[in-house]
Amino acid sequence: MRKLLGKDMRVTNQRKIILEELQGVKTHPTADEIYSLVRKRLPRISLGTVYRNLEILSNLGLVRKLENAAGQKRFDGDMSPHHHIRCCKCGKVGDIFNAPALNGVDQGLDTDFQVTGFLLEFAGICPQCQRPTRNTKYS
Ligand SMILES: [Zn+2]
Ligand SMILES: [Zn+2]
Repeated sequence: MRKLLGKDMRVTNQRKIILEELQGVKTHPTADEIYSLVRKRLPRISLGTVYRNLEILSNLGLVRKLENAAGQKRFDGDMSPHHHIRCCKCGKVGDIFNAPALNGVDQGLDTDFQVTGFLLEFAGICPQCQRPTRNTKYS
């Protein structure tokens, strides 16, 4: 009995740490990136455990899972309503908190479905990738 409780506590604690680490960054990390963050605090955690807990956290509505056709799954600990923009060059994902043109975009749609939301991702080039690459010839 005591042993079971101990194991349960450990699982909950792992999940809490994963959530804290994810909420502490604004970078929308992949599961692998979260794994390396969490490992600093839980050196013995496995990648599989991190994956599993991320799925649970997203099912519980505590984190957002960002999926797109192009690449890896990323995670977001910020549950406030916002949109995302992905850099076409490096894959970095940024937040967009204000997109006035999208207000009401899910209204008046021609569908039998009950609309519960929509997925939208902007594409662009991030500030780092906009910087001209230094050309040794001119420096
Ligand atoms: Zn970039
Ligand atoms: Zn975000």
